[in-house]
Amino acid sequence: MPPAYCLMPIMFTFVRTLFRNLSRKPATRTYPFTQREPFANFRGHLTIDPAVCIYCGICAKRCPANALVVAKSPKSWTLDPYKCILCSYCVEACPKKCMTMRPEHQRKDA
Ligand code: SF4
Ligand code: SF4
Repeated sequence: MPPAYCLMPIMFTFVRTLFRNLSRKPATRTYPFTQREPFANFRGHLTIDPAVCIYCGICAKRCPANALVVAKSPKSWTLDPYKCILCSYCVEACPKKCMTMRPEHQRKDA
């Protein structure tokens, strides 16, 4: 066991760090209660209005990541969010303009 005077600098640093951290604001946010505002030009995530979609499949053909699967019968439109690279090509190609990029973070429960 080292003598007590050897531990004094360590204790001084410890106490100083403790009080400094207690007097500061937290470095992180309490997500999901406090959410950061999106950055400029942030594309967020892709959404679709299925009531307007005609299931033509143009968006799936334009998708460079093969993230979209569209079927006419039975009508289905499926996005694989793990493949999507948020390039927005499908939004530009859609003839019905029923897809949008929502500039917000997607919640897990959304
Ligand atoms: S391009 Fe538009 S209308 Fe056609 S399937 Fe895709 S979302 Fe629907
Ligand atoms: S945003 Fe790009 S990668 Fe994502 S579904 Fe549309 S075309 Fe595919």
